[in-house]
Amino acid sequence: MTPSQYDSNHEEERHECFSEHKDNWIIFRCPQCDYVRRMNWETGEMKVRGGEFSVLHSGMHFPIGINPNTNMN
Ligand SMILES: [Zn+2]
Repeated sequence: MTPSQYDSNHEEERHECFSEHKDNWIIFRCPQCDYVRRMNWETGEMKVRGGEFSVLHSGMHFPIGINPNTNMN
């Protein structure tokens, strides 16, 4: 039951986000779609809007001193 061929038409779309810092919020904005992720580094509250499940969003440049180890889903 081993796949004899690796299907390479599996393309993973990846978008690079820009981050900005506003008050207690870190805002990640995708320039390629409507994906916006906002994270409150004080309360750990996270809000995600837009984007698609099939698209991987990267470019999470957290400002120094902020622990990104909160819910990343
Ligand atoms: Zn995107």
